[in-house]
Amino acid sequence: MTPMTFTGALLEKIPRSSDTTSYRFSRPPEYQFQAGQFFKIAVPGPDGPLEHYFSHCDSPAEEHVELTTRLTGSEFKNALDSLSLGDEAEFEGPRGRFLFRYDAPKIAFLTGGIGITPVRSMLRHLVDTDGAGRIEGQELVLFYGSMTADGIIYSEELDEFAAVIPGLRVIHVITKPPEDWSGYSGFITSDIVRAELGDVGGWTYYIVGPPPMITAMKTVMEQVDIPEAQTVIEGFAGYDS
Ligand SMILES: Cc1cc2nc3c(=O)[nH]c(=O)nc-3n(C[C@H](O)[C@H](O)[C@H](O)COP(=O)(O)OP(=O)(O)OC[C@H]3O[C@@H](n4cnc5c(N)ncnc54)[C@H](O)[C@@H]3O)c2cc1C
Repeated sequence: MTPMTFTGALLEKIPRSSDTTSYRFSRPPEYQFQAGQFFKIAVPGPDGPLEHYFSHCDSPAEEHVELTTRLTGSEFKNALDSLSLGDEAEFEGPRGRFLFRYDAPKIAFLTGGIGITPVRSMLRHLVDTDGAGRIEGQELVLFYGSMTADGIIYSEELDEFAAVIPGLRVIHVITKPPEDWSGYSGFITSDIVRAELGDVGGWTYYIVGPPPMITAMKTVMEQVDIPEAQTVIEGFAGYDS
């Protein structure tokens, strides 16, 4: 899809957790992208426009652009968060090859925290399109690491996806779980991947998130003996942690 530029107006701010917020902007109907792609946004700053890249959280079938981010107190994030409804930002996109493989029999997503953004786009798109184009019997497993159970971003939607997308399982791994947590705790490890997937060699692995997440999941891939050709990786360059 040919990249284009457009101006979007802020429509809504949606808190997702104590430090994470979604920002919805208008987008023109002629803007086309594929779930999993990203864009560049420029917001007005004190000394001129401030630019950052974000994955689309929105599905192509939705009518707005949605980006979700952790508010770090950076100059960019402060400028983004100070926008009022109706204020405009400049967009350029789409970019990227982190695209859903409809013909892969088994896909495992490995992500944590903010890395859920392009996965949310893909899963929402599967719901919006009723899974059109998926190979029959396709299995999907989302391993999603979060610091706390309260901090799971898109928690309710992930429950909804698991209920309505055939073949999808969502496995939460919580670093600091509450006392009554019965799922996995700690970090996503090769033991968890093996326990949930069985024949680990038969899967395509989608790894996405800030650089430390990518490094950790590459180590897991080495431990379960998965060659790089069997992985699809999107690193959020620019995130320190
Ligand atoms: C393809 C892609 C998709 C992304 N999707 C998301 C998303 O969905 N949600 C989200 O929150 N973030 C996403 N990011 C990361 C985002 O662009 C910001 O870098 C991140 O949010 C941190 O911004 P900041 O303003 O808090 O930190 P900053 O103050 O901008 O940067 C923190 C540190 O990173 C360095 N840095 C900044 N940009 C880059 C860069 N491009 N490459 C290497 N180092 C850099 C800075 O020099 C600084 O040391 C994505 C990045 C990429 C490349």
